[in-house]
Amino acid sequence: MVLRTALTVLLAIGFPVALAAQPPAPPPGDTNPLLTAWTTPFGVPPFAEITTAHFAPAIKEGIARQRREVEAIANNPDPPTFANTLEALEDAGELLTRISPVFSNLQSSSTTPGLQAINREVAPLLTALRDDIRLNPRLFARVKALWDKRASLGLGPVQARLLDEQYKSFVRGGANLAPAQKERFRAINAELSALGIKFGDSLLHDTNAYQLVIETDTGLKGLPASVIAAGAEAAKAAGLPGKWVYTLQAPSIWPFLQYADNRELRRQILTAYTTRNDHGDEYDNKANVAQQAALRAERAQLLGYKTHADYVLEENMAKTPGNVYGLLNQLWVPARAVALREAADQQALINASGTPFTLEAWDWRYYQEKVKRQRFALDEQALRPYFKLENVRQGAFYVASRLYGITFTPRPDLPVYHPEVEAFEVKNADGSHLGVYYSDYHPRPGKRVGAWSSAFRSTRVKAGVRITPVVVNVCNFSRPAGDEPALLTLEEASTLFHEFGHALNSLLSQSPYRGLGGFPRDFVEVPSQIMENWALEPEVLKVYAKHYRTGEVIPLDLVEKIKQAEQFDQGFATVEYLAASFLDMDWHTVTAGPAKDTTAFEHASLAKIQLPRDIVSRYRSTYFNHIFGPGGGYSSGYYAYIWSEVLDKDAFEAFREKGLFDPATARGFRTILEKGGTADPMDLYKAFRGREPSVEPLLRKRGLK
Ligand SMILES: [Zn+2]
Repeated sequence: MVLRTALTVLLAIGFPVALAAQPPAPPPGDTNPLLTAWTTPFGVPPFAEITTAHFAPAIKEGIARQRREVEAIANNPDPPTFANTLEALEDAGELLTRISPVFSNLQSSSTTPGLQAINREVAPLLTALRDDIRLNPRLFARVKALWDKRASLGLGPVQARLLDEQYKSFVRGGANLAPAQKERFRAINAELSALGIKFGDSLLHDTNAYQLVIETDTGLKGLPASVIAAGAEAAKAAGLPGKWVYTLQAPSIWPFLQYADNRELRRQILTAYTTRNDHGDEYDNKANVAQQAALRAERAQLLGYKTHADYVLEENMAKTPGNVYGLLNQLWVPARAVALREAADQQALINASGTPFTLEAWDWRYYQEKVKRQRFALDEQALRPYFKLENVRQGAFYVASRLYGITFTPRPDLPVYHPEVEAFEVKNADGSHLGVYYSDYHPRPGKRVGAWSSAFRSTRVKAGVRITPVVVNVCNFSRPAGDEPALLTLEEASTLFHEFGHALNSLLSQSPYRGLGGFPRDFVEVPSQIMENWALEPEVLKVYAKHYRTGEVIPLDLVEKIKQAEQFDQGFATVEYLAASFLDMDWHTVTAGPAKDTTAFEHASLAKIQLPRDIVSRYRSTYFNHIFGPGGGYSSGYYAYIWSEVLDKDAFEAFREKGLFDPATARGFRTILEKGGTADPMDLYKAFRGREPSVEPLLRKRGLK
């Protein structure tokens, strides 16, 4: 029943047209579209002209140019000024800033063995470039000279913040280290970069390698028609027509676990999911994880911090590991109690079934669904016809228009990197151009799992003119199956609003400097998560949740059931999330060398919090891409989602009090998004809310109080 093969899936679904052809040799620079001016509308990347072979030479040229530009700043004979040092640094590296996001987006969303090989080649060069800039003593001397006399420079608050942030980023980047320490610092960064890439490539391999192949329809018992149709489509794509294939991609595995009556098949697919990169083969990530944690600890100690978490959190709202553990513990006790009650409800259902057994991890979603149906008469599948992908996206556009007056116009004329990508021009209320938004919604073998938002071009002000942003949302949503369009689950609809919130943050930002572009990790989820609140408001559902065939608006009683069931399952959801957050924090508060046994480390971490035996941490170490994947952006930062949720639930209360689309409240929230990294997020929040955030709305929403 189980087939381990990556290649069949890879070949069957196909790759972006633009990347299909690989010229044998890199073309000369003057014809490389990455190096010439982009004459596309709004200067978006000319995807149709870009091939894999263009990337390596262009990135290397970008690195060389940035080196020359930074050298010129460092060697300027004039005394340092804000303009000739800080602003000059903002302008340096323009070419690379234009090319890099195109490459990294393709590498995440449509990778190929060719792109993976280029990534392994250029990542060390990019890491070395960053280190060479931060560790350049002449450059740091200029920044430090300015920082030392910052009070007398007559800088405005935003300029002062840029200087402060730049100075800190040099210090945190090793600028104050002795020469021998600098060498070690560089070596650690190089090793971490390579380990992160290896981790991500291995994870993609193991995620694609597994298929649950069902030969006869007895294995399909319990599955709704749409899930069966999706399995048949996947089998066709995998070259197994007439059979059914379920994979470890979110739209495939989760509905299967929710509905499949066959307990043994549920056990098989969940076990395949939770043992990814833990098979003792060349794709095993256990040693990689231990090595990364040890190197991060060593690097933090070189810089004078106790642990990697101390180093990271200094820059976040949370500030210290103690504050993070404080919030996690505060939520853990009530969440665990609720999860245990949920488990007891499921066990009761199992016991009543005649052939009792003990609830296991692969039973959770299945029996949770049964309890939910019993209690709320809510059938999630009955909702999906009202959540046609295009309608949900239109709903997100509608909310943004009501709040901020902005509009979204389809632009099928803009180049895209895959036929499933769609482009929109975003305009202000007065019709002026605000930016470009791309959506890329379905899974494919070259796309990493999860959902994210990134920018091909971030906003800033150059010579008095705002450079407009170009952003993309990349997700892994259910695809059209059989004769149905793509119909989303409630969770997928929320995710669409979530990533759209990140996109809005990028689109509305008015930060004049690249160096002050974004929020800290534990605030950056506020603009995204707050959008999820609107998605399920009856007033908003009425606008976009229309039956894909009849156009009928979602019936009121269904909306009512959705509202009633909102707190259902929150024990499980909170526990599996918090377990992963504890695991992340535990890995990054180590002070000594590599853990001898990654599995034992993880068990100890989860035993400490008494994770119920039938719940698996949302991520196990070997596939915890957020914290060990390329860049490791969420290391000591996975807690950020719930930290941000305290703020977004509290912020949304303001809209509840004043009105879902109250213009003054929307104006206030837009100010937070516009200011972005130019001010302290807590100051921005207090200006919006008139007080510090309260944890109460979050506890109420999750039914933990
Ligand atoms: Zn997010």
